[in-house]
Amino acid sequence: MPRPLCATIHLDSMQHNLARARACAPQSKAWAVVKANAYGHGLERGMKGFVLADGLALIETENALRLRELGWIKPILLLEGIFDASDVPLLAEHNINSTVHCLEQIRMLEYTQLYRPIDVHLKMNTGMNRLGFRPDEYAAAYKRLRAIPGVRNITHMTHFANADELEHPRLTISEQVRRFRAGVEGLAGERSLSNSAGVLHQEVLAQELQNDWVRPGIMLYGGTPGGGRTAHDFGLRPTMTLSSEIIAIQQLEAGDTVGYGSRFEASGPMQVGVVACGYADGYPRHAPHGTPVIVDGVRTSVVGRVSMDMMTVDLTPIPNARVGSKVTLWGDGLPIDEVAAASGTIGYELMCALAPRVRVNEGRMGTHG
Ligand SMILES: *Cc1c(COP(=O)(O)O)cnc(C)c1O
Repeated sequence: MPRPLCATIHLDSMQHNLARARACAPQSKAWAVVKANAYGHGLERGMKGFVLADGLALIETENALRLRELGWIKPILLLEGIFDASDVPLLAEHNINSTVHCLEQIRMLEYTQLYRPIDVHLKMNTGMNRLGFRPDEYAAAYKRLRAIPGVRNITHMTHFANADELEHPRLTISEQVRRFRAGVEGLAGERSLSNSAGVLHQEVLAQELQNDWVRPGIMLYGGTPGGGRTAHDFGLRPTMTLSSEIIAIQQLEAGDTVGYGSRFEASGPMQVGVVACGYADGYPRHAPHGTPVIVDGVRTSVVGRVSMDMMTVDLTPIPNARVGSKVTLWGDGLPIDEVAAASGTIGYELMCALAPRVRVNEGRMGTHG
């Protein structure tokens, strides 16, 4: 028997969430973002779940090539572009679109003979200050890129710092859109602005965010980018259910403690269940007492410190729990955002950190375990 811990990937929910993204941005084409192993879901499953996307966007050049091997024939976009001049021929050979965010990357394209034209996304830094040309340098970068014979379509791109918070006190989306518009003034080409947060606010921002491409990531995996509203509020479904079983039960008396550091002390007689899942599986070690978990369909909470291969949960609300009782760590019935918030992080980090040793299968919601 394998260890009972398992991540079930819900391809039907991935399709549903992509349809939600399209409904939010009906005029736009959609890049489904599958970086970081499709946010921990597996690259091939990302490809299957988002087969109806207009393209797949990611960071890792080797995974772009892998997508071609897996048979993906629609566009692919490298969100950070290439890392070395030796990558340029790959773009032409495998028809991969590249982001261009700095002069070094323009030079790499200038110095390498392209035997087939490529499409690029030119990135503007509208206030995020990670990648891209500043609005006042942008037209010059565009002209230099335009002069390269192998470069075909140039799409204008920027990335929002605070799309989850419409009225951010330091930098609003509207201000970033204003800078973007000023920077691209008079330049031909399609436009790509919104990540999930931008997509989820398209209804509110429709006028400002009219653009040709959107780049949703986290929303396609049933998570939210933050900002207070839940995945359920946005009509998004969980795409990953992490489930396991109780492998031991301990009867505690008043004064008994649990686990490393003896952080939890029972105030009276109680039962705790030991769950086959720990931080070496990707469960957050910092999940404090009270982090939600579901046992046999009943919500309860983590007690004591999460250890490498195990964690302990309060069985008080589930008096009939036994060895073999089903446990949901996140996903179906327990939004990953809730577990993340309790642990002081975001759903993105939990999904991406799913460890290689966790068994993964595919199934609809309600079919895992
Ligand atoms: C990761 C990424 C996205 C997707 O972001 P989400 O918040 O997951 O929707 C979009 N655009 C770029 C450039 C990215 O790197």
